[in-house]
Amino acid sequence: MLRVHEVTTAYQGLVAISAVSIDVAKGEIVCVAGANGAGKSTLLKSIAGAERPRSGTVTFDGKQLVGMAQHLVTATGIAYVPENRRLFPRLSVHDNLRLGSYLYRGEADREGPLDLVFKLFPRLSERLEQRAETLSGGEQQMLAIGRALMTRPRLLMLDEPSQGIMPKLVDEIFQAVKRIRDAGMTVLIVEQRMAECLEIADRAYILQTGRVLMQGRAAEIRTNPDVRKAYLGL
Ligand code: ATP
Repeated sequence: MLRVHEVTTAYQGLVAISAVSIDVAKGEIVCVAGANGAGKSTLLKSIAGAERPRSGTVTFDGKQLVGMAQHLVTATGIAYVPENRRLFPRLSVHDNLRLGSYLYRGEADREGPLDLVFKLFPRLSERLEQRAETLSGGEQQMLAIGRALMTRPRLLMLDEPSQGIMPKLVDEIFQAVKRIRDAGMTVLIVEQRMAECLEIADRAYILQTGRVLMQGRAAEIRTNPDVRKAYLGL
C-alpha cells in the first residue's frame, strides 16, 4: 500500500534520515521505533509532504507522493497526526472533529466516522462542548486521532501518540489503534515506547541515527536478545 524507497531527507545540509526504505501493507499496524532524534518524525513528515526528501520515492497505491503538497497527500487517503497534535485550542471538541471532516461535505458523510470516533473514545463524546485546550494531554491525543479519522483515511500515521500522557491513557490509545485497524484502516505509528508499540504491531522497523537498523515481525523483534538488552531494558 505504502512504499518508502531509499528516502533521504536533510535539514540545511544535515541528513536526518538516510536511504530509509519501509513498506506498509493494507490492514497492517507497522511500528517504527527508535530513540530521540533517530529520525522518526522526519520519516513521517517526508511521507506526509511536510518535508521534501532530497532523494528517494514514496508511493501510495502506486501514486508518487514526493513533491505533492501536504493537503493533496491527505486527499489521497493518508491522515497524519503530528507530534504536537495541532488542535484548534479555543474550539470545542465537536468543532475540532467537524473541521477534520472538511474534505467530506454533507452531514451523512460525517456520521460514519463520528460514530467510530465516539466508540473508540467515549471520553470525547462526554466532552463535546469542552474547549480543546482544557482537555488533558491524553484526551487531546484522542481528539487529534479522532479528527484525523474524520477524513476517512485508508492510512493513519501517528507521531508518538504516547508522548506526554499518563500511563493509563497510553494503554487506552494503543488499544484504540488496534480497533482502528479492525475497523479496516492501516496504521503506521512511530514511537519511542518500543515495548508497547511492538505489542500491538504486526511488523516493526528500528530506526537508529537516521537508518533502518532492524526490521521484521514485531513478535520476533520483541524477543530478539539484542533488542531486549539495548531497547527494552531487559
Ligand atoms: P523525537 O522523538 O525527538 O521527535 P525523532 O526520531 O522523531 O526524534 P526527528 O525529529 O526526525 O527525530 O529528528 C532527526 C534529526 O533531524 C535530529 O538530529 C534533529 O535535530 C534534526 N531535525 C529535525 N527537525 C529539524 C529541523 N526543522 N531543522 C533542523 N534539524 C532538524
